Amino acid sequence: MKKPQTPFELFSIDHLLSEEERAITSVVRDYVTTTIKAQVADWFETGEIPARQLARELGELGVLGMHLEGYGCQGTSAVAYGLACLELEAGDSGIRSLVSVQGSLAMYAIHAFGSEEQKLQWLPGMAAGELIGCFGLTEPDYGSNPGGMITNAKRDGDDWILNGAKMWITNGNVADVAVVWARTEEGIRGFIVPTDTPGLTANPIHKKMSLRASVTSELVFADVRLPGDAVLPEVIGLRGPLSCLNEARFGIVFGTMGAARDCLETAIDYSVTREQFDKPIGAFQLTQQKLADMALELGKGTLLALHLGRLKDEHLLRAEQVSVGKLNNAREALDIARKCRGILGGNGITLEYPVIRHMNNLESVYTYEGTNEMHTLVVGEALTGLPAYR
Ligand SMILES: Cc1cc2nc3c(=O)[nH]c(=O)nc-3n(C[C@H](O)[C@H](O)[C@H](O)COP(=O)(O)OP(=O)(O)OC[C@H]3O[C@@H](n4cnc5c(N)ncnc54)[C@H](O)[C@@H]3O)c2cc1C
Repeated sequence: MKKPQTPFELFSIDHLLSEEERAITSVVRDYVTTTIKAQVADWFETGEIPARQLARELGELGVLGMHLEGYGCQGTSAVAYGLACLELEAGDSGIRSLVSVQGSLAMYAIHAFGSEEQKLQWLPGMAAGELIGCFGLTEPDYGSNPGGMITNAKRDGDDWILNGAKMWITNGNVADVAVVWARTEEGIRGFIVPTDTPGLTANPIHKKMSLRASVTSELVFADVRLPGDAVLPEVIGLRGPLSCLNEARFGIVFGTMGAARDCLETAIDYSVTREQFDKPIGAFQLTQQKLADMALELGKGTLLALHLGRLKDEHLLRAEQVSVGKLNNAREALDIARKCRGILGGNGITLEYPVIRHMNNLESVYTYEGTNEMHTLVVGEALTGLPAYR
């Protein structure tokens, strides 16, 4: 019998990584194996996570805002950040979401569009995981079309008064600070809102069947008074939040391949040990066809992620290319998780194995940061020049 290869070995993925990228991958993978994988099924079952402790550990690991420069951030390459997302999501999409929202949404917004004072005030604590951030763009009535947002900020002397609501906000109930996008007379602007500001209420969203190891909340703003310097000075318009989303989507392009890899490795292990009709189910051609097809999609998606990462490191990555990656990799990861779930038979429906947890999580990943349909429309527009959003 030939020595089996892992799906990544089949594609010689390691060969494409630098020594530093391999080292970062290995450190994050060790943390995920010893800390996340050991506990995440319980967090998922109870719907509760030790968010503060996790944020500090992730800060120590150096993955919070890791691709940003200065202010306590690591300043790694985009590929290294992507690989960290991949390893984190091999643990759980909820943990990767915590890191993405902290680093690519909240911290990136402050880093890219904040004043020097705002950066000094918030970024070092957020990089260390002492402070948790969230990012409020989606509203109850405006998801795929954030340009219609109702949340608004009006001038009152030097201050701003913020009113409205944001929905599906990751980290909402555990955050110290929210980056909130609101309509103003000048256009859409971003505000840094400490979550203990009077008038801000965070309501946890219960009964989720997906991303249960992640905090998701509704934020309500009732006459929240903010000082004049709470606004992010360097951006006006939807370009602000959309460029943050582009950053987070980049992490998802990699992250989804981590969840898919964990599912496929679990299914392969299961298929060579589980026997039916006197032989391992992995020895049946029907099972091998599923495993081979999934390995191809996992390998292709990972190669795509690395290609996009190399483009990003050369400052050549375009938004529609991020859409290509998000569209393909979220869709294929979900498909892989579903197929692996089937290979595990009855065992596939329990949290004893990671597969159904990844599968349910990937339903959120398929929807958030731009749904499958919205990224299809972005790619469609790129190919035809014709926007079909309305
Ligand atoms: C677990 C979780 C965490 C999240 N975290 C955050 C967060 O931290 N911050 C934040 O701001 N948001 C967050 N979101 C929100 C997320 O980005 C939105 O759910 C997503 O953008 C979709 O918006 P919606 O749910 O309102 O769906 P809708 O926009 O109402 O879409 C419903 C369906 O209609 C389709 N559709 C919409 N428009 C079109 C069209 N023109 N053509 C074809 N089909 C269309 C969609 O693709 C989708 O299938 C989170 C969501 C989830 C589930």
